[in-house]
Amino acid sequence: MAGRGVSRERSDEESFLVKVEDTPPCPQCAGSTLLLAQFPHTWKNRRGDDVSGLREAVLCPDCHHGEAEAVELLALFAVDSQVSPENLDVFGGLAAAWVESVRQRTVNEETLMAEFELWKRSEL
Ligand SMILES: [Zn+2]
Repeated sequence: MAGRGVSRERSDEESFLVKVEDTPPCPQCAGSTLLLAQFPHTWKNRRGDDVSGLREAVLCPDCHHGEAEAVELLALFAVDSQVSPENLDVFGGLAAAWVESVRQRTVNEETLMAEFELWKRSEL
């Protein structure tokens, strides 16, 4: 249970949840969002152990229209305005790509933050 034996190769690509109703307001602009994604996320705590949890991300039409993976999702919402059996496959693929891009960005930001913390500590 200490995180050992958890393979990095395990594919988490499919394991995310997407909600399109009652989504929370955008944390950046407080506008209404189109979609809430929850995905598993693993990070290291101060002792270097792996900690698993859930991350949430929202898709905001105002804040995310400049991101490649979000653009296609936003376009889908603009056309269909909701997920139906007809567009579920397309939606699932686009949502997966978007969640993956959010996940990558989250990891990068945390790596940067950790490096910044280390740098601050060595400066002080
Ligand atoms: Zn926003």
